[in-house]
Amino acid sequence: MPHHLPEALVTDRFLGCILGEAVGDALGLPFEGCEPERITEMFPTPETLSLHHFPIRNFRLGQYSDDTQMMRCVLDSLVAHRELNLDDVSHRLVKLWETDVIGAGDACSIAVANLRRGVSWQDSGAPKGQAGNGSTMRTAPLGLWYADEVPTLVEKTKQLSLMTHKDERSTAGAIVVSLAVTHLLAHDPKKRFNPKALVDLVVPYVQELNPHFAEEIAHFPKRLKEPHGQALREIRRAGQSTDKHTPWPGISGYVLPTILAVLDAFGRSPKDFRQSLWCILSYGGDVDTTGALTGVLSGTFNGLSAIPYEWVRQVHDNNQFGYDYLVRQAKELFQLKNSK
Ligand SMILES: [Mg+2]
Repeated sequence: MPHHLPEALVTDRFLGCILGEAVGDALGLPFEGCEPERITEMFPTPETLSLHHFPIRNFRLGQYSDDTQMMRCVLDSLVAHRELNLDDVSHRLVKLWETDVIGAGDACSIAVANLRRGVSWQDSGAPKGQAGNGSTMRTAPLGLWYADEVPTLVEKTKQLSLMTHKDERSTAGAIVVSLAVTHLLAHDPKKRFNPKALVDLVVPYVQELNPHFAEEIAHFPKRLKEPHGQALREIRRAGQSTDKHTPWPGISGYVLPTILAVLDAFGRSPKDFRQSLWCILSYGGDVDTTGALTGVLSGTFNGLSAIPYEWVRQVHDNNQFGYDYLVRQAKELFQLKNSK
């Protein structure tokens, strides 16, 4: 726990991390798979960004998807067990798939089918070669719970990612998210965000898993100085090293461009939640997941108080597990962490 910071600030950041994910997911969900141009026609400026109805099903405004649903499984499990209990998380994922998982990816669905057949979490993950972003979307609560215990955090994140993805690129992406949460949670609010410090923290762990991934991450601070359109082209190109997830308009569900795009959207306007969310949606493609992860980074850095209230109060999952629930669970996690 970052003890050098006021308790109220750290609490706000816990809440911002959890609610930020739900808000980013809900903003992006109606536009998943859309071309960047279609999204920027709808939202020409950050000020015009707003929640929209999910057109596939008749959900109330603010519905979030598998990203936040899976993150919630991890959050609830941490609160219940006060540690990462992988058997419990696997039961919660199976139950989620039996009820109403929204927009799940192939790898996670393969893994959950394996778990349901009794395969252990060590073996349930989709095979190498499937390097999607499905395990990055649920690791944020680990970055809160194992804050200031970096080696443990990395180990636990690897285990949680393995449950659905055997490919080390997916593991690398999950580690970037959980380490970024820990890093941003402890950030001194009087100082500017330093992208190089984040790179220095994550690159050694990513390097061990996939040197190409590490090289791309190391380039992220320089890319922030490039114009928006050029950054998008380069990030998309980074995604073309696999043919598994193309063609996608904008940012594909492949984990590498997902992570690069999220770092870029956050890093361009670290103090402005709305601007970062508008930027990531304007990159198009897998925008519920990229929105969710941008919401995690910006929400952790800026706290719940920096997220527009008209967005946070509307998030829900089939009229349940909305603002009140997520705030209660995030506060509980903070209290438990504080008394660890
Ligand atoms: Mg989703």
